[in-house]
Amino acid sequence: MKFPAEPFRIKVVEPIKSTTVTERKALIKKAGYNIFMLPADSIFIDLLTDSGTSAMSDNQWAGMMLGDESYAGSKNYYHFEETVRDIFGFQNVIPTHQGRVAENLLFSTIVKEGDVVPNNIHFDTTRANIEHQKAQAVNCVIDEALNPETLHPFKGNMDIGKLEAVIQKYGVQRIPLILLTITNNSGGGQPVSMANVKAVSAVAKKYNIPLFFDSCRFAENCYFIKEREEGYKNKSIIEIARELFSYGDGTTMSAKKDGLVNMGGFLAMNNDSLAQQITNMLILIEGFRTYGGLAGRDLEAIARGLKEVLDEDYLRFRIQQTDFLGQMLIEQGIPIIKPVGGHAVYIDAKRFLPHIPPHEFPGVALIVELYTRAGIRGVEIGSLMFGRNDPETGKTIAPELELVRLAIPRRVYTSMHMQYTSEALGEIYNDRKSLRGYQITYAPEMLRHFTAKLKPMN
Ligand SMILES: *Cc1c(COP(=O)(O)O)cnc(C)c1O
Repeated sequence: MKFPAEPFRIKVVEPIKSTTVTERKALIKKAGYNIFMLPADSIFIDLLTDSGTSAMSDNQWAGMMLGDESYAGSKNYYHFEETVRDIFGFQNVIPTHQGRVAENLLFSTIVKEGDVVPNNIHFDTTRANIEHQKAQAVNCVIDEALNPETLHPFKGNMDIGKLEAVIQKYGVQRIPLILLTITNNSGGGQPVSMANVKAVSAVAKKYNIPLFFDSCRFAENCYFIKEREEGYKNKSIIEIARELFSYGDGTTMSAKKDGLVNMGGFLAMNNDSLAQQITNMLILIEGFRTYGGLAGRDLEAIARGLKEVLDEDYLRFRIQQTDFLGQMLIEQGIPIIKPVGGHAVYIDAKRFLPHIPPHEFPGVALIVELYTRAGIRGVEIGSLMFGRNDPETGKTIAPELELVRLAIPRRVYTSMHMQYTSEALGEIYNDRKSLRGYQITYAPEMLRHFTAKLKPMN
């Protein structure tokens, strides 16, 4: 059956407030036409991010009541450690309060000034944490990933030729590790194939460079492998995950994604002396090695979440729900990145609103209209987020793509919410010629999209 029915039923509900168009017009104006500045309770469907927005299960909430809040040696830590070892296979398990701290601990220990770190595409916190060490973050994704229309079953794959070229150019001494992001968030939530993981691993072994995974959406990636890669149809998700991680040396993880919790993360690795050094640093900035910035109950929720996320009924629904929204948009002629990725649908705002030039922020125009018309919050990933001001002309230097991302929280919204979203976008698409661009009235130097203020063009 094609229709993605939710493989859960609802036991607790959280009411969402509806507001009128008039109210939303006033609210978005007051927010300086910046979606990040809106109070969340004025939003009907929040597709800002899939990070930390998951709904926990009854089993996870029950686990929260079994929190052992001992400072050292909490029983929930041992459950968490055993679960991570079982799925990922790495022996040293270091809890952190979220993914970027795992990145910071790893990079501040092994990345030196002048080093170079290849990845398929670095996520923004990954890049920032590498650059913070005065090192360089290099993307080596396959060319197909850069064209929204190109169909490829594993558009997150690393280009082995590009990886080899980076190693040749900078020399093995300057490459402390190779990273592989599964799924590739910044490239549209696209998966990496097992064959590609093996090929990257072979290069890493040849040069004796450690291979680490950025595993935030590992279960979604493994589901794509099961669906799309020859030889995995009859394997369980945990078998696929174990094989995948067996090709690497460690992982960073934000449990706010495939950990199915609202806060948490970890680092895991085989190298004992590296783990020892990182643990010493952990104690300095996060906490003792058996809690790392988390409560015992949080560790229990992650341990249970990591098991639940491997459930095939859940994953089938998850991937199908995202695809369901994407296909409904395609049917209405709305341009999106293809194929649809695991956690979000990305609308191509440049083709949706060709009459609005990049320096007038077509993505912002679409986001504001979607909120005002339907109470839905998406996020612009385009000239506002990544554009820079040319110091000479004062004009915006635009990034390659102008996207609007609709990220889908896990187990939170029903397929009817997706239909509502699709219908709203269809209406906007029909009226698209009436949309106008925006100009910035205030923007800070760094990470401007979070706090910038804008106004509509005349
Ligand atoms: C979210 C994310 C991170 C950072 O994790 P946080 O928990 O937000 O700190 C790192 N890498 C990828 C691919 C992510 O999606």
